[in-house]
Amino acid sequence: MTGFKKTRLDLNQGNPAILTRQEAMNWFGAKQLFVAAIALLGVGFVAPAHSQALRPAFEQTIAPVAPTAQLAAQMFALDALPVVLRDDAPVPGWTVTGPDGLVGHIASTWEVAGSVGYSGRPLDVLVAVEPEGRIAAAQLMRHSEPILTLGLSDADIERFVGGFAGIDLMDPDGVKTGPDMPDIISRATVSTGVIRDSILRTARTLAIGRGLLPGGGIDRVGFDPASWAVLQAEQAISHIRVTLSEARDRLAGSTPPVPTGDAPFVELWIALADPPTIGRNILGQQQYSRAVGALGPGEVVLFVASRGLYSHRGTAWRRSGVFDRLTLVQGQLRLPLTDAGYIRIDKLPIADAPDLKERSLFRIGGNGFDPTEPFALELTASRPAAVGGDVSFVVTIPYALPGRYVLAPPPEAAPLWRQTWEDKKVAVVTVAAMQVLLTLILLFQESLVRRPRLWRATRLTFLSVTLVWLGWVLNGQLSVVQVIAFLQSLLTGFHWETFLIEPIIFTLWGGVALGLLFWGRGVFCGWLCPFGALQELTNQLAQKLGVRQIAVPHALHERLWIIKYTLFVAILALSFYSMKDALILAEAEPFKTAISMRMMRGWPFVLFVLVLLGAGLFIERFYCRYLCPLGAALGIPAKLKVFDWLHRRPQCGRECRLCETKCTVGAIDPLGRINPNECVLCLRCQVVMNDDNTCPVLKRRKRQTAPASAST
Ligand code: SF4
Ligand code: SF4
Repeated sequence: MTGFKKTRLDLNQGNPAILTRQEAMNWFGAKQLFVAAIALLGVGFVAPAHSQALRPAFEQTIAPVAPTAQLAAQMFALDALPVVLRDDAPVPGWTVTGPDGLVGHIASTWEVAGSVGYSGRPLDVLVAVEPEGRIAAAQLMRHSEPILTLGLSDADIERFVGGFAGIDLMDPDGVKTGPDMPDIISRATVSTGVIRDSILRTARTLAIGRGLLPGGGIDRVGFDPASWAVLQAEQAISHIRVTLSEARDRLAGSTPPVPTGDAPFVELWIALADPPTIGRNILGQQQYSRAVGALGPGEVVLFVASRGLYSHRGTAWRRSGVFDRLTLVQGQLRLPLTDAGYIRIDKLPIADAPDLKERSLFRIGGNGFDPTEPFALELTASRPAAVGGDVSFVVTIPYALPGRYVLAPPPEAAPLWRQTWEDKKVAVVTVAAMQVLLTLILLFQESLVRRPRLWRATRLTFLSVTLVWLGWVLNGQLSVVQVIAFLQSLLTGFHWETFLIEPIIFTLWGGVALGLLFWGRGVFCGWLCPFGALQELTNQLAQKLGVRQIAVPHALHERLWIIKYTLFVAILALSFYSMKDALILAEAEPFKTAISMRMMRGWPFVLFVLVLLGAGLFIERFYCRYLCPLGAALGIPAKLKVFDWLHRRPQCGRECRLCETKCTVGAIDPLGRINPNECVLCLRCQVVMNDDNTCPVLKRRKRQTAPASAST
């Protein structure tokens, strides 16, 4: 021991201090813990950047659960087994047909909406939609939600999921028709909220994609008589013209050369013919019906007409089946036009059409092509070059279907998180106000700690509000489970919506995350943790009633800290193996019993809380000091905090150890230094060191100055 001494600058005292072997071991132990924790958190901070990259891989490894014929029969209430066929496009799912034809469609929320539960694991619900656009049934197929630890049963969740049967997707909120949306289960807000939103989103996407709902696609019903000029003026027909002289320049070196002149080298018109107002007016009823009648799901008809020297069709397509001069382009998508579904039109009935040389209809679609989004047709014009080979240039004609031919999508149910923020806006404001008040307290702490009675009144009032209003009324208790769920979500796909569903918790975490940077864990543990407040208030009462406090020897006290850090690391590590088991281990937190469920729980849980509170009567904040995994998680980044707000005197730990005995959580060591991982920022030590009736140093100074002033 004597040979092991090391000098370092004591940050709290600003003086060199000597480290004994034991202190050095503690110091290095803390450093290792800190480094390990930073590495752990590093995963968290790096992961968001990669979460999108990780997510597809994660998703690909887990296939949706496919419906059997028995399940499909049950979902659509059929007497006979139907045929269930998989369709990957336009929306992945299954088509269910019976002896009388189409029965409906089924899709998986995991496959369509990427539904991830509170556990960070897939939450797969099969949703059956009738041809009329109603949800026939919903069936929970897979989940890893901690429903048992939330105090729910599988029957509760099944009942909730079953409540979506009959919802009309044209009126999902049930304003005009259909049943009301099932109520969110309050003890499982996030899980049931994710189920609700994913069922509605999947059903809607499926219904639109399979053409069950009229919205969100091309208007194939409305018809108004319109001339070519009108259609071209509203850009339902798109037009481009390249003169002979322009083509001659762009095909320089071709043989024979393109003649000069203003006559068209090629003049092109294109239009999507599906809306009757466009197609029927251009093609006439008979040709229009022939063209659109042969379309498959997701296919549309493109009308192309041209005149001039250069043909848009060419002749190579007769051998290859591909119109090599034409390419459809939408974003990164490049689709060749083929003779599958090609129709040559000889005559157009529309009166004011220009004098056209060629008229064609092409069937296009699939491969992710969206006719309601802008696209372009490229015509490649080429001629033999004098020096051999070809010279060519590309004519691009852009096209966007005018808005009046695109139907508005059906109303979408407002996401649950928006509704909950609306419902809880007053509560959120009060929580934000508490956070603002706490910020002011901490910013102006020096004025507060010089007034012991004001500090005490402020603290007791704040802690009472935290316990009663924030904890018991608003259920605003942060938990290590949320830390684990957040870290898991970074790896499996982060969804803001999952966290936004609980506005109080979201607001609290927002403030705590920011506060950690400036003040460390104390912004939460010292002031905003309802269970922390409950422990401190009961201990204060016990002290008032004369209960003697137990002073845990510092060496033992430090070693007991290991329990909470180990518990946190164990819960985190276990969550990667089994979220369910991790959440069972997280029952070491008494928060759910004492705060969320207000002791209305089985006796073992209540007894556990009473034991902890009982221990806290003799050792202030016993649970915070040694057991709390959330406190450990919040304490780990404490060394990252930007400012050191708490003051020490050079005499602290040398001449006087009063603060050490008064500290709420034993965060001051025998040398008078404050451990930022443990400090909960209660400011008690600051009050003591500024009180000239309590602090021995100030008392001595007062004594020394008193006779002097008396003698003057
Ligand atoms: S240590 Fe745990 S119980 Fe104590 S105040 Fe912090 S979070 Fe709350
Ligand atoms: S007494 Fe001082 S060191 Fe102890 S928790 Fe309160 S502020 Fe932190």
